[in-house]
Amino acid sequence: PLGEDGMYCIVNGEPFLKHLKESAEGAKAVIAWGSCASWGCVQAAKPNPTTAVPIHKVITGKPIIKVPGCPPIAEVMTGVIMHLVLFDSIPPLDSQGRPKQFYGNRIHDTCYRRAFFNAGQFVERFDDEGAKKGWCLYKVGCRGPTTYNSCGNIRWYNGLSYPIQAGHGCIGCSEDNFWDNGPFYHRLTTIPVPSVEANADKVGMAVAAAAAAGAVVHGVISKLRSKPNRGGE
Ligand code: SF4
Repeated sequence: PLGEDGMYCIVNGEPFLKHLKESAEGAKAVIAWGSCASWGCVQAAKPNPTTAVPIHKVITGKPIIKVPGCPPIAEVMTGVIMHLVLFDSIPPLDSQGRPKQFYGNRIHDTCYRRAFFNAGQFVERFDDEGAKKGWCLYKVGCRGPTTYNSCGNIRWYNGLSYPIQAGHGCIGCSEDNFWDNGPFYHRLTTIPVPSVEANADKVGMAVAAAAAAGAVVHGVISKLRSKPNRGGE
């Protein structure tokens, strides 16, 4: 927090701002752990009463490696440090300063529910049939299409699960300004939604109807063929 000369965050009797500047002074690079350090996160949300800012607004002139997430994935944090230590270099970063190897894909790109999105099969309410069948959570607010992170492939707790697998949409916690990016349970309006494709039940019904119609036609033709020729042939 920059407000009141940093007095909103005091560590050991001094503004944290002072500690940050001292710590960064001799650093080769600074890793901004989490969405607070990377973007400002909840305390920087409107109306931001303490004038909270991310690290790159305070520390300039040296690389800032952003590792956003609320919290970031443990394996991602480890991977960034390992890269620095093993290669003695900054990992390749995207235009926003995030390591590409972990933030190069959207949650949507690696989501196991993506086939349901493509098929236009969506959860409309958390207690509907689609929710029970594990359909896409986009219409109940999933931010996967606009969120860059590794949750879809690395997951959490040694790969055990992640929010979407637990039945809740991604809230986009690793993106800038996510607290002010609309209500979590409202769908994004900027993403085109595929038209609803027939589900397996509908396809099954259509096939059954077509088969029944075929049987009727076949029966009619057979009947006509077996009819005695009134012309006496
Ligand atoms: S919108 Fe969310 S639940 Fe649906 S496919 Fe994309 S990331 Fe997965």
